[in-house]
Formats: sequence, C-alpha cells, structure tokens
Amino acid sequence: MDLNLKLSGLPGVGPSMIKKLEKLGLLTVGDLIYHFPFRYDDFSVIKPVSETAIGEIVTLRGEIWSIKNIFTRNGKVLTQAIFNDGESSIYLTWFNQSYLTKSIETGDKLQISGKLTKYKSKLTIMAPRWERTGANVSHLEGGIASHLHTGRLVPVYPETYGVNSKWLRNKIDMILPLTLPSISDFLPEDIKGDMLPLDTAIKKIHFPENLKETEEARDRLGFDELFLIQLATQQIRLQWQKKDLAHPWKIKETDLKKFTSSLPFKLTNSQNRVLLEIISDLKGTFPMNRLLQGEVGSGKTVVAATAIYLAHLNGFKSLLMAPTEILAFQHFDTLSRLLSPFGINVGIYTSSKKQTNVIARSDNDEAIHSMSKIASGQSPRNDESVDVIVGTHALLSEKLDTPNVGLVIIDEQHRFGVEQRTLLRAKGVAPHFLTMTATPIPRTVALTIYGDLDLSVIDELPKDRPKINTHLVPEHKRADAYKFISKNIHSGGQAYIITPLIEQSETRLTAKAATVEFLKLKKVFPNLSLGLLHGKLKSKDKEVVLGDFRSGKVQILVSTSVVEVGVDVPNATLMLIEGAERFGLAQLHQLRGRIGRGTKESYCLLFTEKRDEVENTRLKYMETTFNGLKLAELDLEIRGSGTIFSSAQHGRFDLKIARLNDIDLIEKAKLAASKILKLNPQLDKYPLLKGKLQSISQEVMPD
Ligand code: ADP
Ligand code: MG
Repeated sequence: MDLNLKLSGLPGVGPSMIKKLEKLGLLTVGDLIYHFPFRYDDFSVIKPVSETAIGEIVTLRGEIWSIKNIFTRNGKVLTQAIFNDGESSIYLTWFNQSYLTKSIETGDKLQISGKLTKYKSKLTIMAPRWERTGANVSHLEGGIASHLHTGRLVPVYPETYGVNSKWLRNKIDMILPLTLPSISDFLPEDIKGDMLPLDTAIKKIHFPENLKETEEARDRLGFDELFLIQLATQQIRLQWQKKDLAHPWKIKETDLKKFTSSLPFKLTNSQNRVLLEIISDLKGTFPMNRLLQGEVGSGKTVVAATAIYLAHLNGFKSLLMAPTEILAFQHFDTLSRLLSPFGINVGIYTSSKKQTNVIARSDNDEAIHSMSKIASGQSPRNDESVDVIVGTHALLSEKLDTPNVGLVIIDEQHRFGVEQRTLLRAKGVAPHFLTMTATPIPRTVALTIYGDLDLSVIDELPKDRPKINTHLVPEHKRADAYKFISKNIHSGGQAYIITPLIEQSETRLTAKAATVEFLKLKKVFPNLSLGLLHGKLKSKDKEVVLGDFRSGKVQILVSTSVVEVGVDVPNATLMLIEGAERFGLAQLHQLRGRIGRGTKESYCLLFTEKRDEVENTRLKYMETTFNGLKLAELDLEIRGSGTIFSSAQHGRFDLKIARLNDIDLIEKAKLAASKILKLNPQLDKYPLLKGKLQSISQEVMPD
C-alpha cells in the first residue's frame, strides 16, 4: 500500500470521518502510521479472578453469563453483566452505553481489561475495555496481534471528537501489514548501528510486546526526527557559508569604546563577552549567522545598537525587525536616543508608519529632501540618508531594494530567520544576521533546532536589578491587591494589569475581554488614569497609549499579553496577571519581565480562574524561581515538550516523538549528521535519505 494513499481510499472511511481526521493532521496512510501513541495503558497482566487483588489492573478471560440494562431513578442507564472466568464470577458495569446489550450477548467469550474494585460490596470492573477472545480478524489475515484493546500494552493516541484511540488502533492494525513492506529504511547502515530497522520501529511503537520495545522504538523514531533536523540545519549552514562572502569589517577598539562609554550604564560582563563574539564574526569572511539568547531584561537591545553603530562605521545600513508594531515603536525611540549623537539616522517602517528621524542639521539639504520624500509616501528604505530602519514584517513584505544593507537584526522572532535570509540571498545580498530571543531554550535544544546558527548567551542581568516579589493571590484577597496597587501608584509607581489570553487566533475575543476588564477597573480605580492596550487597536492608538504609559501620564496599563515581549518601561513596578493558569511558566516569566527593570522593588500578583491543586503547584514555582530557563524546563516536565515555546514563538520543528530533554539522543543525532555531511555534503550517495530530507525541508523550511 502506497504511503501517499489518501485515507478516503480506506474501507469504512467516509467524508465526515475524513474531516475529523484532518483535524489531527491525518490525510494519508503514511500520516496514520506516523500518528504515534503518547502513552500506553498496561493491561498486560492476564490472570484468573482468584489470583487478583482489589485495586489491581488486570485482564481476564471468560464468558458472559448475563447482561442487561438497568435504568436508574435519575434517568441514567447502567449496563450490568456477570462475567465468569471458569472459576469465579465478577460484575462488569458500564455507564450510558445501553447499546452494548446489542453487541454483547450471554455466552459471548470476551477478554476484559480494567481495574478490579468493589461496588456495592460486589467484585466489579467499572467501564471495562473488552474485545472478543481471538477475534481480531486482521490478525488472522496477517494483522499485528490477536488483541488490540485488552490484554497487552494498549496504545493511547492523540484523539479528536469522533476519532478515539479504539478506532485508531483498529485502522492502524489493519493498514500496518499492508504498508510496512513498502517502507524503505532511509538510514545508512553504519548510522543505524544497533537501532531497530524503521519498519520494526513503526510496528513496535504502535503494538509493543513490552515496555523495553517501546523504548527501542522511541529511540529509533526519535533519532530519525533529530537526525533529519540536524541534517537540514547543518546543510543550510554549509551552503550559507559557502555562497555568501561578506566584506570583512574593520573594527577599532577606540571606536567601540567611544560608543560604549556614551551609554548611561556600564555593560555587564555577559554583554561584553557577547559583543566580542559578534565582533569576531563581523571581522570574518563569512556572513554572521548568530542567535543571541538572553534572559528578559538582560539588555540585548544595546548589543544590537552597538552592532548597528559598527555597521555605520563600515559604511553599511542596518535593518532591525521587531515582531510587533509596539516593539518597533519602542526600538525606534531607543535607537534614536542611542545613535543620533553619532550622526546615525534612524527610520521606522511599519504598515502604518513610515518616518525618518533625521537629525536636524542646519546645512543638511538632504535631510529636508528626505523628509519631503517620506511626506509624499515614499518608503524610507530607499532613502540614502537613513542608516538604520526599524520595522515589522512590513520591512520585508515588499521587494527589498536597499543595496547597502550590511546587518539584519531580528528581535524576538526566531522563525523569521530562515525565510528572510533566503529572501535576501535571492537578491544577492549577503548581510550579517543577528537573531535575538529571550525565549529560554536549553543550550542543547537550541543547538538542535537552530543548528544553522551560532549561539551567544547573555546569562546575567545588570547589577542592582530589584527582586520581583511574586505571589499567587487567592480570590478573597483581590480587594487587598487592588488597595496595594492603588497605594503604590500614589507614591509614584505604575502598573500593568494583564487580562488573560484566550487563544492566539481569538484576538477579537481577547480584545473584548480586555475592554470589559478595562471598564470594570476604571470603577475600581476612579482616581487613577488607566490606559487600554490590545492587538486590535489602531497602530496610532497603540503608539499613543504606550507613549502615555512611558511618560507616566497613564498609571495603569490594562493590556492583553501583547506586551509579553520586549516592552521596556522601567518605572513600572507592579503587574497583576488575571487567568495566570492560561499561560506557560516561561510566558509568565516573560510577562513578569516587564517589571523590575529599574531599581525599585517590584511585585507580580497572579490570579487564577480555577482552583486546581496541580495548577496551583505549577504556578507556585513562579514565587520561588526567577530563572527563565529553569521555568521552561519545569513546564517541559509538567506539561510536556510542546509548551517550551510560547505561542508567539512557535518552534521551527514540531517534534512528534523525540523529547527535547533527551540530551544523549540529541548529541548522537548531531554527530551522525555532521559525519555524513562531511563525507558526502550533497547526500548523493544516499538517495533515500536525500529524498526524505527534501520532503521534510519543504514542510518546515520554505526555501
Ligand atoms: P532585553 O534583553 O529584554 O531586550 P532590554 O534591551 O530592553 O532587555 O534592556 C532592559 C533595560 O535594561 C533597558 O532599560 C536598558 O536600558 C537597561 N540596560 C541594558 N543594559 C544595561 C546595563 N548593562 N546596566 C544597566 N541597565 C542596562
Ligand atoms: Mg528586547
């Protein structure tokens, strides 16, 4: 059976089922066999009733002696059966499945799995899984096993409404024997070593005999994922370095000093170290391609500004791209402040705003000229007098025709990188690239996912940063919290109140929630001035409200999580977060990073909408942990790998099975990839592997 066969080609899969399967991303037979279980129910212990203890999870074999529906007084239906294993009888009870009496009859031989309990002093299994003994038809036709749903390690899959694990098990069991023969193992023999062959691994991940087999299968399939990612990113890196030769920049120590000593503070050791790493790239003959990772508030912007200054000295223009308009406005302000003393002109280019901040020099005709060009709606991008342009995606959404760009900086959006570099390369431009992020990613993980980038890390905050006292506040103390905020603002502070993010795609709803909350809070704080900020506001209004907050005119900024990344208002020392349970810990940490930026003691108050023991334990970590990486790792442990990237910053690769904290496997994949690329960079000797790589590259990297 061809792996590309559409699922509609399978018996018993109709149009409505196809729609549901699409929700799980399942379109083809290949997708289905690569739909891996995320856990297994262990029903592998098969025993007679007599050897079983209460509370044990077991599988029993026997016969149905009777089965009937019982209608309870409150309108529910219980299906109750007596089941006998040849020696002893127990009760089986199902809720609201009255149709079962149509499929199970007295005398049927069944295999039953579940937990043995006492119900009304009778030995019972509640809601047992069941199937007929030896009844798996596809097994007789060469299917995987005699039982799929009981009496074994039973795979549990990601499900959606109308597609449950039982359905998936049946279908996967049916197609596996037909598809496995057409699976060719793309791993070269010497890399495969003693790992399972691909077809065996796929079979075992779905229907393992024991836990050891699940681990072996996971190792092989996880290795594949990591290995392919490594190959893709390392290949890009090789191409990138080969093709695009930049002019080495000249950088004099004295010039650098001139700039850093103009700053209102001393750079931290980390900032200095990272700058040296960047400078060594800029002096080299390959274009820089570096990821700068630094804790929230660690001062990445000023590192970027330094690089822009150096570009200017070397006669190059720079582009700085921000993920949001709000952040673009802020960077425009910051860079104008830091760079204008050196005669560097800053421009801004977003979808709503095109302006140049040309320094007023009395005898500069060009400046006046360029202002008029902008007034007439011309893009500052072509403007000779602008040295650096700050913008959003809009910067690249049109044709890039600035010939002299030597440096591109991308703030807080690592997904950007690959596409944008490609875009630029197509134009024959080879600028240096610096990508900045506060997303805490463990080093090994970063090296996997961003294998095409070099990594620099700022791992300290500027001195004198105050502690951010964080508290999970119970609802009955809400009034006190408001009083505390009010008091604090009266003595000169400012506050953020964050309304919960509902879902990234539901901006409209979020905006509404923020608006409603805003009106409510105006009544709570009648004597204070409040501002409202959310993604749906007009750009102009965003700029105004943020400006007012920065200047202190607005004392409380009610906002959605649009302020999550980058916003820098050092006088704000309070943050109240509603619906904190909706955020990942790393995301809360980012949000919290908006305060504690000055020298004053800061407070972050977390409120939740539901009382939940587990959830509260998770949020309590915020009170004691102030390391973004640590929090991301805790989230990884508690909520699984998917959440390590906040919703605003999707990972470049979706991992189905490899665990991002499996460092050994990551290392192994990385070594294998660099070894094979060294021997055969184009992978021509490995056509199967090359084909596989091309198919995943198309998915993740629109090159
Ligand atoms: P992030 O790394 O989160 O982008 P920013 O670049 O916005 O952080 O910097 C946060 C704040 O810290 C800014 O107000 C900036 O002026 C200030 N800052 C940066 N470097 C230093 C330093 N070495 N000492 C003191 N303050 C600094
Ligand atoms: Mg920043």
